[in-house]
Amino acid sequence: MQKITIAIDGYSSCGKSTLAKALAHKLHYSYVDTGAMYRSVTLYGLQNKLIDKDHHVNEKELIAALDKIELSFHFDDHTKTNETFLNGVNVDREIRTMEVNENVSKVSSIKEVREKMISIQRHLGKKKGVVMDGRDIGTNVFPKAEIKLFMTADNTVRAQRRLDELSSKGQYFTLEEVKQNLLQRDHDDSTRKENPLTRAEDAVVLDNTDLSKEDQLEFVLKLIADFHFISKQEQSQH
Ligand code: C5P
Repeated sequence: MQKITIAIDGYSSCGKSTLAKALAHKLHYSYVDTGAMYRSVTLYGLQNKLIDKDHHVNEKELIAALDKIELSFHFDDHTKTNETFLNGVNVDREIRTMEVNENVSKVSSIKEVREKMISIQRHLGKKKGVVMDGRDIGTNVFPKAEIKLFMTADNTVRAQRRLDELSSKGQYFTLEEVKQNLLQRDHDDSTRKENPLTRAEDAVVLDNTDLSKEDQLEFVLKLIADFHFISKQEQSQH
């Protein structure tokens, strides 16, 4: 079967990565979590005091440090997860803290940061057979992706999911605090100048508020099957 590119964009915490991982597993594709890349750059900024506690980012120095930021990803067969490494150190846990959540949208709005991340993403996806999730994958990174999804879900449901994820890692916040952070990030991500979060015209909207993980997987597998069916028909007509 012809390998394709699957681009999944959407709001924060609406289950993009859960669906992307399940699809990659089912199709034997690779999975790229682009949010983890922006989170890693943010962590680097925090570790190197380039972001202060009022969320002010020293853009000039962060841009100058970009050459010193090396990102890599390894699939852990044991945990079945893709782990993110920042300069050789596994940062999978550190990049999912509230402190990173609060600063990542600012960092991801910097043009030079995006240019570097997008070039890595295009390189990782150049052979197709990839499921990539983020905010600008279908609109900008792979505008010709064969399958594009735009995911959304009810705000409280999304906040509850993120709250559960944080508390499972020993980080405790109120539902309201988590919700405010999500809404703020959605707003910042959708209104920034560089590659804002928008739905690609040809993306299929998937609202998963009331859908199980299995329902969502089935929904996308059907889209993929339809795509292959149509392209086979088109080929036989030529
Ligand atoms: O998906 P996740 O919540 O991990 O993304 C973290 C942040 O990274 C987003 O809020 C957004 O600011 C940024 N991001 C982006 N473009 C992407 C993926 C993520 O700007 N393709």
